[in-house]
Amino acid sequence: MADTIKIVIAGPRGRMGREAVKLVQNTPHFTLAGAVDHRNDGKTLGELEGFADSNIPVYSDLEKCFQDTLPDVLIDLTTPETGYLHTRTALLNQVRPVVGTTGFNDEQLKELKQLAEEREIGVIIAPNFAIGAVLMMKFSQMAAKYLDDVEIMEMHHDQKLDAPSGTALKTAQMIQQQRASKKQGHPKEQETIQGARGADMDGMKIHSIRLPGLIAHQQVMFGGEGQLLTIRHDSHDRTSFMSGVKICVETIMTLNTLVYGLENILD
Ligand code: NAP
Repeated sequence: MADTIKIVIAGPRGRMGREAVKLVQNTPHFTLAGAVDHRNDGKTLGELEGFADSNIPVYSDLEKCFQDTLPDVLIDLTTPETGYLHTRTALLNQVRPVVGTTGFNDEQLKELKQLAEEREIGVIIAPNFAIGAVLMMKFSQMAAKYLDDVEIMEMHHDQKLDAPSGTALKTAQMIQQQRASKKQGHPKEQETIQGARGADMDGMKIHSIRLPGLIAHQQVMFGGEGQLLTIRHDSHDRTSFMSGVKICVETIMTLNTLVYGLENILD
């Protein structure tokens, strides 16, 4: 691993981006080389509202940012469309992407994996950087082996663009590895309002709640004869995600493929 890891952050004004800037600036072996912000080309980070005085250059053009600052890692915390384009551009420029942005589809993930392997460069896409959330997913996968009637309820702030959340999808995929496809509920059940039973994945139901006041929360409920198991995780603050970002940045220096999910790099 290089002594100091040079990092570019895309989306620095966002709620996650601001925490990531603090993380990078407060970590001795990380250096913030630049930031990518589509509204503030040519400024410095210190000129943007809410940032301490700093000469870190801000670019709207990711490639130009890479050419000028020569980073090791891109941390992307933007929007699904932009995040995908940024990840692709980073791989084409031999910069390792750590992607927290959610909402990529299977085709995009497949293409990025292929690109990472062709270029022999690591990329981590982590729908949830919170260690507690990763444990929630792992415990849910364990429970599904014994209790296969499952409903996932994810709850997020009302500015979130994608539904269901990346975490809910990832949880469902992990449960799928343990649980055979199964139709849940009454065989003749009917919705009198469309969507009342939530989204369906192999018979598992996923419910997405969006309300101001929420940050990121999920509970996975398992029903069995005479019993109910609920596994729940709450992120009360976006700082909950930053230890995971740090682990990803450190680990990506040793990878040469795409890793999807923080659980795949934790011991
Ligand atoms: P946010 O507050 O809306 O921030 C997104 C930022 O991206 C905004 O500042 C936005 O700027 C900026 N942006 C949009 N297009 C851009 C572009 N082309 N270039 C540079 N910046 C651009 O959202 P957030 O809550 O920080 O979340 C960001 C992403 O992380 C979302 O996908 C969210 O689902 C995900 N997330 C992941 C985790 C995790 O643990 N992996 C946790 C929480 C959130 P404007 O507003 O000016 O357009």
